[in-house]
Amino acid sequence: MIGGGLAGLAAGVALAESGWRVRLFEQRPFLGGRATSYVLPDGEHVDNCQHVTLGCCTNLDDFYRRVGSSSKVKFFDRLLFLDPQGRKGEMEAGILPAPFHMTGSFAKFAPLSLADKISIGRAMLTILRTSGHPSGPAGLNSPEGISMLAWLQSQRQTQRAIDRFWRVVLVSALDEELDSTDARFGIDVFWKAFLCNNRGYRMGVPIVPLAELYDGCRAFIEKQGGEVALRSPVRGIKIEKNSVAAVQFDNNREESAAAYIFAVPHDTFAELLPPEIAQSDAAFRNLDKIKDAPITGVHFWFDREVTQEPFITLLDTTVQWVFNKTALFGPPTAASTQNGDSKTSVAKQYLQLVISASYDLLQKPRQEIIDLCLKEIRQALPAAREANLVKATVIKEAAATFSPQPGVDRWRPTQQTSVKRLFLAGDWTATGWPATMEGAVRSGYLSAEAVTRVAGEPKQFLQPDLGANGLVSLWTKK
Ligand SMILES: Cc1cc2nc3c(=O)[nH]c(=O)nc-3n(C[C@H](O)[C@H](O)[C@H](O)COP(=O)(O)OP(=O)(O)OC[C@H]3O[C@@H](n4cnc5c(N)ncnc54)[C@H](O)[C@@H]3O)c2cc1C
Repeated sequence: MIGGGLAGLAAGVALAESGWRVRLFEQRPFLGGRATSYVLPDGEHVDNCQHVTLGCCTNLDDFYRRVGSSSKVKFFDRLLFLDPQGRKGEMEAGILPAPFHMTGSFAKFAPLSLADKISIGRAMLTILRTSGHPSGPAGLNSPEGISMLAWLQSQRQTQRAIDRFWRVVLVSALDEELDSTDARFGIDVFWKAFLCNNRGYRMGVPIVPLAELYDGCRAFIEKQGGEVALRSPVRGIKIEKNSVAAVQFDNNREESAAAYIFAVPHDTFAELLPPEIAQSDAAFRNLDKIKDAPITGVHFWFDREVTQEPFITLLDTTVQWVFNKTALFGPPTAASTQNGDSKTSVAKQYLQLVISASYDLLQKPRQEIIDLCLKEIRQALPAAREANLVKATVIKEAAATFSPQPGVDRWRPTQQTSVKRLFLAGDWTATGWPATMEGAVRSGYLSAEAVTRVAGEPKQFLQPDLGANGLVSLWTKK
């Protein structure tokens, strides 16, 4: 296994559980890849960025269960939205069965007008009637796809419905603007998370630093006779007669195995491949057509409490989500207080702000981003106006996810490749899902399935989708 992000860990754990001896090589000194946490030079332990899951992410849920981390993720039923005028909107399932479970809170949702809601209802009906697979307009189901914005326009959505509803949900879920998002991903989010099952939208938020979610992985692999090697970057792939012979490390070291799963980012994998192999197969040749999309995380420490909400979605602002890490993590432990710097120890509240598809922020100086976000937080949360900002950090991830552009699925390779013993995993491989932790775990399970299949002992690791419930189950078998 090369790469100890979620994809590599999911594949490793699944194979170890089925009796394979797994050796996992990760270049960094910790596991978790993009979905991890680490200690900043000033001693502060921060998430690379806040990560959340949804009730419909069944494979991630299964992975957390396997490695004993389920209790480290807390699920919330209520989503709170706040607009610059201070109007609140809540989304929460009521007593009605799916697909009507959100109708009550949606009807009361103050940031949208009646006309906006009617237009949204119309589009939802189209998704519902087709069980998440509408057939039009032209191009929607072609390999090239169409954009989510084009689909919304075909559904005659009001501008405010687009800005305050569709964009709000989808830019954070898919990390891309609506005009650059394949409509199939956008429609799928609403079908799986909001329509087909009344638990699909529930938001799971880790209540520990992300790295702690992987505490059980190493033990799991080692218990089966395997090995997890950190600080072990793979530098090359030796391929002979169209079969992987070894992976190469520093100082000319080589390691061989019965099967090799590369669970590294797609551009890294392309660089590791010998040039003649990289050009030999369309699955490898087209990897550079998969583009990256950025996410910016802004970390604020205030000298007093500025909100009691666990998380809030802001409307019409640069800041999209506000996570109250103090409330989510609980009171600081003696160890965390000792490790943090003196500024943080006087801080009473730690907020993490998330801005997805943050193309505009990439070139901006950090102080400018801090000033902009602080202004918006003080506008949204009156208690923050009196509070002092004790410390702030900005983490820009230029390649946070692959961009879910129309037609991108054409370029995503399957986990089994044309080269013998060479398998792929990673959120960017063909899973049907966008770049998410769920997509990464699915890719890991699919690659593990491919390894067992080729070895002649096929196993199934992939978990079924959440499935329809309520009234939706009456007209769909999914
Ligand atoms: C800022 C940010 C916010 C996000 N928010 C969310 C969210 O809220 N919800 C959600 O579901 N998803 C979110 N995502 C996406 C999610 O983090 C990813 O989809 C997922 O973690 C990808 O996992 P992966 O294993 O495919 O790749 P990675 O996590 O990138 O793992 C690849 C691993 O390979 C290692 N590696 C690379 N090269 C080598 C080498 N040569 N040798 C050995 N090891 C190597 C890397 O160090 C890394 O550990 C977010 C991502 C970012 C960056």
